Amino acid sequence: MKKWIILFLLLPMIALASNHSKPQWTYNGSDGPSHWGQLTPAYKTCGLGKYQSPVNIRTSDIMSSKGKLVVHYSPERAQLQRGHNNIKLSFMNQDKKNYINFHNKKYYLKNLHFHTPSEHMIDRKAFPMVAHLVNKSQSGELLVLAVLFQYSDLPNKFFQELLSLRLPQQVMVKQLGDLLINPNRLIPKDKAFYTYSGSLTTPPCSENVTWVVMKQPVSVTPAQVKAFQQRVIASNARPVQPLNGRKVAQVGSSTAG
Ligand SMILES: [Zn+2]
Repeated sequence: MKKWIILFLLLPMIALASNHSKPQWTYNGSDGPSHWGQLTPAYKTCGLGKYQSPVNIRTSDIMSSKGKLVVHYSPERAQLQRGHNNIKLSFMNQDKKNYINFHNKKYYLKNLHFHTPSEHMIDRKAFPMVAHLVNKSQSGELLVLAVLFQYSDLPNKFFQELLSLRLPQQVMVKQLGDLLINPNRLIPKDKAFYTYSGSLTTPPCSENVTWVVMKQPVSVTPAQVKAFQQRVIASNARPVQPLNGRKVAQVGSSTAG
């Protein structure tokens, strides 16, 4: 009888521990990117998908295209979500005033997060960091806007404000109250970009994601990237994936929002 009681008491604790303390996937070893597809059937696209991201963008092998990208970002309330492998700002966006208009379709801002080094490469060159701004259309299609960071003496003001929020060390959600985050401050002035169809770069690696990689990088200092690596994660970039016949398009200029 006693044994049953103990087991009964222990079971919820075990379930809690497996949900919260062990990452389901990581960036190295047996749970790393080359094994994601085998970790659970829900992640099989990571291993079997043919249109995966990130990719290496070869500037000698891109097509010029026309397309319209209008970024409508403005100050917005957010939540800070600390996960095992990242930290993200999730936007409420209740009145839907933060969106991107791409090829005459609206994609609403959901969250923004960072990877170090950058996941996409340009001519095999990785950048020290990238911001991903995840946007979703009314019908569920995803568009991820990638902003590359390059080292400079100029600190990135937006990123500095994020670092000053005392990033939580454990998996948790931190409410930011009335604090307004303005994602528009991350967007480079020059709106030229590369675009192609790919996937989420983290499990479940779902495909049919429109990627928009801004050509102009924004500045960040080595100390800022180091602070992120020390407080969040040392490295969280999936290696580049084969294009498998996909073409990357380049759009020279567009309208600023
Ligand atoms: Zn990302």
